[in-house]
Amino acid sequence: MKCSQDEKFSCGELNRYGNIELSPSSGVLNYGQGLFEGMKAYRKVDGGLLLFRPEENAQRLKFGAERMCMPSPSTEQFINAVKQTVVANKRWVPPPGKGSLYIRPLLIGTGAILGLAPAPNYTFLIYASPVGNYFKEGLAPLNLVIEDEFHRAIPGGTGGIKTIANYAPVLKAQTRAKSNGFSDVLYLDSVKKKYLEEVSSCNVFVVKGNVISTPSTEGTILSGITRKSIIDLARNYGYQVEERPIPVTELTHADEVFCTGTAVIVAPVGSITYQGKRFEYKTGLGAVSQKLYSTLTAIQTGLIKDKMGWTVEID
Ligand code: PMP
Repeated sequence: MKCSQDEKFSCGELNRYGNIELSPSSGVLNYGQGLFEGMKAYRKVDGGLLLFRPEENAQRLKFGAERMCMPSPSTEQFINAVKQTVVANKRWVPPPGKGSLYIRPLLIGTGAILGLAPAPNYTFLIYASPVGNYFKEGLAPLNLVIEDEFHRAIPGGTGGIKTIANYAPVLKAQTRAKSNGFSDVLYLDSVKKKYLEEVSSCNVFVVKGNVISTPSTEGTILSGITRKSIIDLARNYGYQVEERPIPVTELTHADEVFCTGTAVIVAPVGSITYQGKRFEYKTGLGAVSQKLYSTLTAIQTGLIKDKMGWTVEID
């Protein structure tokens, strides 16, 4: 699905997946003027299709576009384009329990611009791909390493929006972590190098007794839609949820740590390694992450009634 800004994002054109033409001097190629979103469509047992909180993705894109000096589609245009993309790819949505259709909306500066400035034209496009469940059997714990050389975001930067440029600084750290046998990297704040921020593409939560804490989003952390949903579900379960700066030292006595994001949904953390020390956490049955994962996936796939009003049916 592709819309161009010349028509004020009002057009909708469905194309077979393939390469797109881009000016060598386009804003996205030269100055990183690009934003994306990540969302999923799920198939219910009755065959119907569900989107999860698409208006949140539309609003996050709009917020990011403002920071990146880009125009953005309206919430209605965004959701309609996502729905059309899903309908056109209906046959690729896996059966219930077997995965989902991952949807990737992209907003990029396609206009040519030689000197540093916002591009004169933009393209909003969406592509989709079927994906399996992140975890094949049950929830497999992540083994994270805390990075203290590289940072993913700085105060006043773009860490709070989903711009393509945020993923460039993490490539090296993530590649190094994986080659050392870790699943992913947990980043600290870049000023005091003391507070937890987030993982390369998910948010982090720390459990101690009845209190579930997650780093506050103050411009350097992406405000995850799964994070927001888990906060609400955890409060409904009676946990006390705190959004606050979390010093890395709290990891030494946490009961449980887990990550949230569209891809992983809720992923338990089995261990965190920091400056050569390894901390291990409770995972598996009875863990808070397991309970929240089961509830959230049941809502997303239509297995339980969506009392939160989060799912959107696609006709
Ligand atoms: N942080 C980062 C850096 C991410 O890329 C993502 C994935 N979008 C998240 C957190 C989780 O956000 P969401 O729950 O909206 O997928």
